[in-house]
Amino acid sequence: MDQTKKAAEATAAAPAERLDSPLRTEGELALRFIGAGSAFSKKFYQNNLLVAKGEDHVLVDCGTRTPEALALLGLTVMDVRNYLITHSHADHIGGLEEVMLQNRYVARRKPNIVITEKLRDVIWSMSLRGGAAYNERHDGKPLDFLDFWIPNYPKRRRGEDRELSVATVGGIEIILFRTMHIPDSAAGWRDSFPSYGLVLDRRVLFTSDSRYDPAMVAAMEAAFKLEAIFHDCQLFKGGVHAALEELAALPASTKAKTRLMHYGDKIDDFRPRIAELGFAGVAEQGETYRFR
Ligand SMILES: [Zn+2]
Ligand SMILES: [Zn+2]
Repeated sequence: MDQTKKAAEATAAAPAERLDSPLRTEGELALRFIGAGSAFSKKFYQNNLLVAKGEDHVLVDCGTRTPEALALLGLTVMDVRNYLITHSHADHIGGLEEVMLQNRYVARRKPNIVITEKLRDVIWSMSLRGGAAYNERHDGKPLDFLDFWIPNYPKRRRGEDRELSVATVGGIEIILFRTMHIPDSAAGWRDSFPSYGLVLDRRVLFTSDSRYDPAMVAAMEAAFKLEAIFHDCQLFKGGVHAALEELAALPASTKAKTRLMHYGDKIDDFRPRIAELGFAGVAEQGETYRFR
């Protein structure tokens, strides 16, 4: 039985009080899909992942609909103390204005954010500044990124491909690496706009949004003993996401540990095909995958 199946069963059997504490675990690494849907899904929340291990937690991405998804778990954006952002699309950062304003003006504290300096500049100057910077003026100046956040900048591993860098959030180790997401014409990660995939505790690959890039998956499998892979999956071909029929070409051993995420509203129509292709399944929204 694969790890993710085992984990799903463990979740089903878990006592209710465990499910009431999505920000902590008994020590195992737990991945809870707050959402598993595409940017424009109306049936699912966007692709956002709450990672917890012992007393530590980090929310990977915070899309437009994430505050609403957190509310279903009895959480507000102020309960989440650690954020991590993979790239600048609104289904991954659209909830951050609420995070910033609620923390500054209600909780009166700053949350932590794992973010590369490159991506910090992109999301602050191109996306977040208009809604956050001008609510106050100090010495004639608007607010800055550091007025809202305590940054946790990943440390670059020199000489490593894909600008690989490492951050820790308590006992959770997160490796970030550049992916090939946008634009659709980019030949590889080097000429793509900054977007990052993750390896959690050297055990789990989370691609975040990525086009079909089998070299990336192979490189991560060669570098780490991956127990599970969560891969971006679009139900049709074209654009800036990996299509199901492209992912079909991954090696059988890779597919067997891969669950698909970031899918559209018609996912149920594709479940038989996903099983036929030999994937572990889809990342189920609301499900927790545990690694002991
Ligand atoms: Zn997305
Ligand atoms: Zn995206």
